[in-house]
Amino acid sequence: MREPLRDAVRDLQEGVLNLLDALTVLGAAWALPAEGQEEKNLLHALLDIVVGHPDVHGAAVHLLREGVLEPAGSREVTELIGAAHPETATGAGRVELGSGVIGRAAATAALQHCRDCAQEPPGPGQPAGGSLIAAPIPAGGDDTPLGVLSLTHPDPGEFTRWHERLAAVLAGAVGQLLRTSRYSRDLETQVRERTRALTDALAESQRLRERFEEWALVDELTGLRNRRFFFSEGEVLVQRALRYGDPLSLIMLDLDHFKEINDTWGHGPGDAVLREIARLLEAGMRRGDLLARFGGEEFVLLLSHTDCEGAKRFGQRLCEKVAAHTLRHQEQERRTTITVGVACRDSGYPEDPAAVLDRLIREADDALYFGKAHGRNCVHAYPDLAPSPPPPDDGDPSGPPGGRSPK
Ligand code: GH3
Ligand code: MG
Ligand code: MG
Repeated sequence: MREPLRDAVRDLQEGVLNLLDALTVLGAAWALPAEGQEEKNLLHALLDIVVGHPDVHGAAVHLLREGVLEPAGSREVTELIGAAHPETATGAGRVELGSGVIGRAAATAALQHCRDCAQEPPGPGQPAGGSLIAAPIPAGGDDTPLGVLSLTHPDPGEFTRWHERLAAVLAGAVGQLLRTSRYSRDLETQVRERTRALTDALAESQRLRERFEEWALVDELTGLRNRRFFFSEGEVLVQRALRYGDPLSLIMLDLDHFKEINDTWGHGPGDAVLREIARLLEAGMRRGDLLARFGGEEFVLLLSHTDCEGAKRFGQRLCEKVAAHTLRHQEQERRTTITVGVACRDSGYPEDPAAVLDRLIREADDALYFGKAHGRNCVHAYPDLAPSPPPPDDGDPSGPPGGRSPK
């Protein structure tokens, strides 16, 4: 083969080998998994790949943080073969934007090629001699670069335009990997934050739901069951009594002349009295009984397994208990009384639980109305509505007898 031809073939072979080396490095760099990786680990893996190229002896990455290039990782071939000199390694130390070859690459966003660093004024992060290429790491679009990728060789004049191209493509790969890794980290953070927000919202809505359910069942002022709960639970108790043929009674009771307490002590202390009476009534309840605030100053009790005589005795005990209780407001003391109406299910009753409950309420209310018209502080049972003997004089503050205002 003639001399010039042999040289051309040798050049071509060398070019193909260089291309293969470059492709190997690029292929390995692009294959790095960016998602879910720590940025530091990702850069170290990448730098290992870059210094795997036969012409590159050192590689470093500086990343731009708050206007300064911070060293983010560096590799020297000597490190890989076990003779590291980290203090002389390219990439050590922070670099101000525009300072030295590396700072210039970031400030101008243009690749810098220093063929012989010994001829250059010394700059931070750059070697004292040899070859250096500093390629800006593109941020995508026209934004300021994310940082700088530096490739070094200990001898001057080692890098050619071929290496400049390689450095630019590698810097592009670094930029892409960093953007993907940051994007996936942002996504993870967002997903975590959204998940936390969703969990909080679910817990809050659960709390609200529980409070709402409670409000729907509990009388806010006294803490007793409310009228709505009384009807739903009352029907269940009636149904049970019907099934087993158990006796069942209902008591309606109303505070006597409660308006006077409001008028003299005020509405707030009036509320406190209602709460106190509620506690007194509650204390006398048995398991299986149902007590609720029916409205204003009126309460209802459904007594399971209780016949008429038992319910009257129970009502009487409640009357005595309330009448004996001293109410206090500031320096003042007073007593109050209740009037009790009793109704008991008997053989003439319907079989439908809701109808039974309605009838018990109506009859107990009639008995209560009767008691209001006949002296108050007394117990009457439907249908046996005869005037009861006058109540004992126990300092009852009630006013003159009068009719209970019809509802
Ligand atoms: P009677 O012996 O005929 O039942 O007389 P009374 O004064 O108890 O009955 P009346 O129906 O004339 O008045 C009931 C009063 O109860 C009027 C109303 O303002 C008061 N009241 C109803 N609900 C509440 C409440 O939640 N808090 C307070 N403080 N007062 C209430
Ligand atoms: Mg009243
Ligand atoms: Mg009333």
